[in-house]
Amino acid sequence: MTEEIEHVKCLIIGSGPAGYTAAIYAARADLKPVMYTGIVPGGQLTQTTDVENFPGYPTGVMGPEMMEDFRKQAERFGTDIRFGYATGVDFSGPVHKVIIDEVKTITADTVIIATGATAKWLGLDSEQKYNGFGVSACAVCDGFFFKGQDVAIVGAGDTAAEEATYLAKLCNKVHMLVRREEFRASKAMQHRVFNTPNIEIHYNTEAEEILGDGKTVNGLRVVNNQTKEHQVLDITGFFVAIGHKPNTDIFKGWLDMDASGYLLTKADSTQTNVEGVFAAGDVQDHIYRQAVTAAGSGCMAALEAERYLAAKEHTVIETAN
Ligand code: NDP
Repeated sequence: MTEEIEHVKCLIIGSGPAGYTAAIYAARADLKPVMYTGIVPGGQLTQTTDVENFPGYPTGVMGPEMMEDFRKQAERFGTDIRFGYATGVDFSGPVHKVIIDEVKTITADTVIIATGATAKWLGLDSEQKYNGFGVSACAVCDGFFFKGQDVAIVGAGDTAAEEATYLAKLCNKVHMLVRREEFRASKAMQHRVFNTPNIEIHYNTEAEEILGDGKTVNGLRVVNNQTKEHQVLDITGFFVAIGHKPNTDIFKGWLDMDASGYLLTKADSTQTNVEGVFAAGDVQDHIYRQAVTAAGSGCMAALEAERYLAAKEHTVIETAN
């Protein structure tokens, strides 16, 4: 049971590039948007270092700094930004209900979902056992604790490549575990990895168990998936960088999604299968997943929300006449 109820014209859930861009456009269109930031205000980019490919920053920018800029711009036009987490929805009626932190109900004419995605884990028992005690899914957040030590990282995409080179600056040695015999990362990122002398790449190699004394990590048992040979790496830190899962659990049963949980939107649109509910950014994009594309779809969502409300108002006036 929830106690408080508040009605808004435009509710934005999530505070990454998609959410903030939607907020900037919605606020400027006088939709008086209310944004709930989620647990990590600023989203995934607050956990990264240099962003060199977002237009408008010719010398690059740190992820957290860029998200601070997004926030200031959204606030400048009057977005009501609140810390809170959407814990449930009811999209059965013309007015959409969203529950915040299990206690507050927001009813909204339009909802823009920009809840992004979350890091994936391998699923090893030892990974959970040592999570926060030598195991991490964020090199930028936790790399500092392994200064001068030997660490391992799993993954072969752009994130893994970026995090491996970041760790290589702090750590003595970085073992990079690639499950196939090639990288998925872009050529530019691969180039960085290959040119970092203290990264050792282990192809066709998978993590089997993180070893430790119950409190801290002191090794990693790996297996070569071709030769089936085992090896123990002397490491004290283990980083996972194998991709992300869209944050869509609360929308199951209400919104159409693909097999991986990404929200489905109409072609050339951010419109979901529920009228007045729009999805922008990584929560609906498993192809591009870039800050700039997320921002672009956030803009689309706000414009579509504005047009949806204008059309609805028009219908009400016509019916009244
Ligand atoms: P990706 O999905 O691109 O890559 C995930 C990697 O993890 C793949 O190499 C995959 O292996 C590997 N992997 C997945 N599951 C396992 C497993 N169980 N065991 C071992 N390895 C596994 O995710 P990213 O997070 O790297 O990137 C997401 C998106 O963000 C991409 O579009 C990327 O380009 C973009 N990005 C851009 C950056 C930049 O431009 N600066 C920085 C970071 C991300 P396999 O290849 O075998 O499937």
